[in-house]
Amino acid sequence: MTETSEILDVLIVGAGISGIGAAVHLQQQCPGKTWAILEGQEGFGGTWRTHRYPGIRSDSDLFTFGYRFKPWMGKPIATAAEILAYLGEVIDEHRLAPQIHYRHGIQSAAWDSGTRRWTVTATRPTAGGDGTETVQYSARFLWMCQGYYRHSQGYTPSWPGMDQYLGRVVHPQTWPDDLDMAQGLAGKRVVVIGSGATAATLIPAIAGHCSHVTMLQRSPTFFITGRNANELADTLRQLDIPSEWTHEIVRRKVLFDQATFSRRCKAEPEVVRQELLAGVRAALGPGLEAEVDKHFNPRYRPWQQRIAFVPDADLFKAVRSGQASVVTDQIETFTPHGIQLRSGATLEADVVVTATGFHLNVLGDIAFSIDGQPLDFARTVAWNGALFTGVPNLAWVFGYLRASWTLRSDMMGDLVCRLLQHMDARGASTVVPALRPQDDDMPLLPWITADNFNAGYVERGVALLPQQGDRAPWVHGQDYPSERLSLPLADLDDGSLLYL
Ligand SMILES: Cc1cc2nc3c(=O)[nH]c(=O)nc-3n(C[C@H](O)[C@H](O)[C@H](O)COP(=O)(O)OP(=O)(O)OC[C@H]3O[C@@H](n4cnc5c(N)ncnc54)[C@H](O)[C@@H]3O)c2cc1C
Repeated sequence: MTETSEILDVLIVGAGISGIGAAVHLQQQCPGKTWAILEGQEGFGGTWRTHRYPGIRSDSDLFTFGYRFKPWMGKPIATAAEILAYLGEVIDEHRLAPQIHYRHGIQSAAWDSGTRRWTVTATRPTAGGDGTETVQYSARFLWMCQGYYRHSQGYTPSWPGMDQYLGRVVHPQTWPDDLDMAQGLAGKRVVVIGSGATAATLIPAIAGHCSHVTMLQRSPTFFITGRNANELADTLRQLDIPSEWTHEIVRRKVLFDQATFSRRCKAEPEVVRQELLAGVRAALGPGLEAEVDKHFNPRYRPWQQRIAFVPDADLFKAVRSGQASVVTDQIETFTPHGIQLRSGATLEADVVVTATGFHLNVLGDIAFSIDGQPLDFARTVAWNGALFTGVPNLAWVFGYLRASWTLRSDMMGDLVCRLLQHMDARGASTVVPALRPQDDDMPLLPWITADNFNAGYVERGVALLPQQGDRAPWVHGQDYPSERLSLPLADLDDGSLLYL
């Protein structure tokens, strides 16, 4: 066991978009603090490094998925490679690299009230690279930026007969190198199970490279389609004005449009539904009108799940060309050569891609303890969706699921830095949220309520996650327009945070 001698002020977990952003905010807003990032993978990027399936791209625009402090210069929807390049520039511009320690997978984190520190135990390769060793870091504050799902393995339900299927079953999260578009997929009949953003990205990317691809969905999803361009950004870029201005103006326009849209989704969901369906109908073109109601008209209200943007209608073009098709049905059983459906139909397949989502996980599958007692996050209540009752000196960056994740991770940067400054001003070394007497009768609710957001991965994992209350500062509403106003004003001295 190696122990690092330095006691860091802040240890950031994860070098994805949140962790890199956290480091920049910390450097800028708390310049005196010492910090490091521990990252389990061999490079930065998180989601955008883990996922390597054909066509991988964002489904929200990079003006808002990008940081507020770094202008986005490309098209609104970006490939993983473009997002990684952007993050690489942030690391270079802010000279973060020396403090990021890759291949450090954290196994446990233990808080000791005596020393008022976290001790984090990680596994890393030995210097010679022929084995692994354990290393410990000490830190006063843990800034958890490990995302919300298990990176090592995606979620694949088990269906009857899978063991007799002779083809290949692949999860997009662990896409094999040999299943490339040039050779691996050539001549193959592919079935993609799922209807979310991953399926919508993968299908147009492989259609035309394989012999046929079928999207097999249990139920439909909403999509919005349009050009992968932002007219306002294109106009502003032609003018001789700083890129920072363009970035900020376009962000505000995107956010204004999104706020208008989400208000309309709540006020007139059926009108919005018809508009979305009209967009799909136009993209599919004449002759396929009947497909729309069958395959693209979801049971849920618009905005109850993330609405994926389909740039340049590529998914619908693939369907129109006949290279791709959509089937809405349920799997009865796998057969040796494909899938038999409840309706009685069969789908022959050489490759089945399970775009069925991920395993939600709690704080990076790290074994947390406080003074030797194992910590169960499901028993805690979240303070502003960021800190947790009974858990000292720890914040978790959980971004938006409907809007761009980074909008919240940037605001978390401000909140955590303000809290660290406040602790310094008070001379406190510990901060821990606690319910107040006036919160005694407060009903406790799931981290995300199904009425608010009902994606399958949330419903499967929500029991493991912290709880929320029904009043400030215990609400976790997943709503950017209201948090944009409330988080900067979050009261650090209303009795819900105890300082020592
Ligand atoms: C395919 C896909 C597309 C998406 N597209 C969008 C989009 O367009 N817009 C949007 O807003 N959101 C999107 N999301 C959600 C996306 O995950 C987040 O927006 C964002 O990338 C999360 O960033 P993060 O840094 O918080 O977490 P992650 O990207 O999950 O990164 C977390 C990092 O922490 C590391 N880590 C975790 N546990 C440990 C541990 N125990 N020890 C050490 N390191 C650890 C991981 O290796 C990883 O590098 C998408 C998600 C997926 C899967």
